[in-house]
Amino acid sequence: MTTTPKPSATTPDTKIYERRESTVRSYSRSMPRQFNRAQGVWMHDSEGGRYLDFLSGCSSLNYGHNHPVLKQALVDYIASDGVTHALDLHTDAKARFLSTLEDVILKPRSLNYRAMFTGPTGTNAVEAAIKLARKVTGREMVVAFTNGFHGMTLGALACTGNAGKRGGAGVPLGHVSHEPYDGYYGDEVDTADLLEQRLEDPSSGLDAPAAFLVETVQGEGGLNAASPEWLRKIAALAKKHGALMIVDDIQAGCGRTGGFFSFEDMGFTPDIVTLAKSLSGMGLPFALTLLRPELDVWKPGEHNGTFRGNNHAFVTATAAMREFWADPKFAGDIARRGRILEQRLERMAKRHGLSTRGRGMMRGINVGSGDVAEKITGTCFAEGLIIETSGAHDEIVKVLAPLVIDDDTFQAGLDILEEAIAETIAPVDASGTTSGKSDRKLGLAA
Ligand SMILES: *Cc1c(COP(=O)(O)O)cnc(C)c1O
Repeated sequence: MTTTPKPSATTPDTKIYERRESTVRSYSRSMPRQFNRAQGVWMHDSEGGRYLDFLSGCSSLNYGHNHPVLKQALVDYIASDGVTHALDLHTDAKARFLSTLEDVILKPRSLNYRAMFTGPTGTNAVEAAIKLARKVTGREMVVAFTNGFHGMTLGALACTGNAGKRGGAGVPLGHVSHEPYDGYYGDEVDTADLLEQRLEDPSSGLDAPAAFLVETVQGEGGLNAASPEWLRKIAALAKKHGALMIVDDIQAGCGRTGGFFSFEDMGFTPDIVTLAKSLSGMGLPFALTLLRPELDVWKPGEHNGTFRGNNHAFVTATAAMREFWADPKFAGDIARRGRILEQRLERMAKRHGLSTRGRGMMRGINVGSGDVAEKITGTCFAEGLIIETSGAHDEIVKVLAPLVIDDDTFQAGLDILEEAIAETIAPVDASGTTSGKSDRKLGLAA
């Protein structure tokens, strides 16, 4: 059985997308296939092509597609006429989710958070977080960071750095100061010190902030990973200046960087944490804002939404916490696979004079430009590997493989990436021309 996709890029049916789907569509442009089935680490298209998924719904599918345990839990729940929609009424599914969150996630980490169910997308969790910070502190300004990505609704978009995304707003995006993220001016400059200087200078023009909103690893902004020291400094600065520390863990959380939370074992505790993407475990829409109980000053319904708490997602998220997070083994597996990824990317980087980014199973390689990155991801796709780019100029090829991928398949997918890079970029050492070729056979075993 051939596993690489057939050459024709479109089926007659795809005309419907040009006719009826808005031009705002994006991923479907670089991967113009029609997908009809997905299981584990694989996606299948309507023409029999099989693709290894190194995008994982931008880290919404950390446990792979249709994980059998999660799927069964959902099938059983639906078959028993479990409540699908109930606004924010109490349901069995919500009670089980909250108890499991408490027992499996919060208590073992000595974390004390209340869960606020927002509308089911990440941007909603961010809106809730910054609204709450403004309400609690009575301040307007939020400090966000260069290359940060926090969502598409106006409040979260104001905190997002990317000009292309910001341009869609149509109104001024204000009340946010974008400060340099860790490493923005290179290794020599500690940007936390710069921020401290600005905060302490009454004439810097920086208003007292309600919150610092930060990703520990910047998912869309180029896989920049902040150091634990920098994050601790930012957390300390927040405390000192009466601002709240919000970690946007929508992409870096749920195991992507190793632990359930990306900030575990870093020596600080955020005041507020946002989660979405892989929280449901199955790709169902589900978002959560976690807040310290003392900050819970909301009036009933003050931030609401029709789809607060998705009961189907409660069920799959509960199953995911039990399946993966009740046993520390899973975090160990992620760490081991993260090291494989690090070594492989380092090898590619060394061969071609490139650099790598990221942490855990959230890493990428800087190939220099968006055009080069697009060539590489296009070659990968033609070889049956779904992989995307990240960064200010889309210059980072990012690997977001499912966390549950077995080692052989993982290596085979990385072989495709390595080969695609070797085909696109010359090796630094001329004598290494042929060493760019992988010693594994290109293509994936059936
Ligand atoms: C994806 C993402 C968001 C927005 O989530 P949506 O579900 O797309 O609204 C916010 N923050 C981060 C860090 C993200 O990666």
